[in-house]
Amino acid sequence: MTLVAVTAARRSDHHEGVLLRTAYVQALEAVGLAPVVLPTSMNPSRTAVALRSTGGLVLSGGEDVDPAMYGAPPHPRLGPVDRQRDEVEATLVRTALDLGIPILAICRGMQILNVALGGTLHQDLPSECPGPLAHDAEPHDVAIDPLSLLCRTVKSRTLNTNSRHHQALKDVAPALTVVARARDDVVEAVELREPAGQWLIGVQWHPEDRPEVGLFRAFAEAALGVQAVG
Ligand code: MN
Repeated sequence: MTLVAVTAARRSDHHEGVLLRTAYVQALEAVGLAPVVLPTSMNPSRTAVALRSTGGLVLSGGEDVDPAMYGAPPHPRLGPVDRQRDEVEATLVRTALDLGIPILAICRGMQILNVALGGTLHQDLPSECPGPLAHDAEPHDVAIDPLSLLCRTVKSRTLNTNSRHHQALKDVAPALTVVARARDDVVEAVELREPAGQWLIGVQWHPEDRPEVGLFRAFAEAALGVQAVG
């Protein structure tokens, strides 16, 4: 069984803890992967060491990215942020790229991926870019670049996706290229501009909630390749 690192949100009720939705666990297990949770309350450099023992990195969904990470002032409708999580995930992104470890970035995961590589975000889509789609509440279709790794992976040029985000990519990081958009032009998926053997897909939707087995299976194959040689 191939181990993959998965980031997880910090949550507080009476005592602070770690939250990883079961949908991620089930989606990864279904393709033969064992998720190893890296709590985002950890020291960033220690999570980078832990990542080296795994074959892949999943950046999971969660809270908003702190706009200080890309040098912007907070928007009035910015939600809760966790600066330590931002720092941990940015470190993990750079480490995974250094080591050629495959990255699957989901929702917030795609946003912190973009920020870690020098991009920026819309902090609140409904107020900054009002449009016909309710990205925070309703499923919508995305159009996929037919030449992309994502298109080869899901074997379709369109997907109906469940959409639960109020932030979105604004300036796309130089290393990334947009491979899917919604009909209002919101960025819905990214890949590496020059992959050079590195497997990376970021999606703005939640494939763990639907049987999008193709995406997880391709990630599993990439992770198995890394662990086999590592
Ligand atoms: Mn969307």
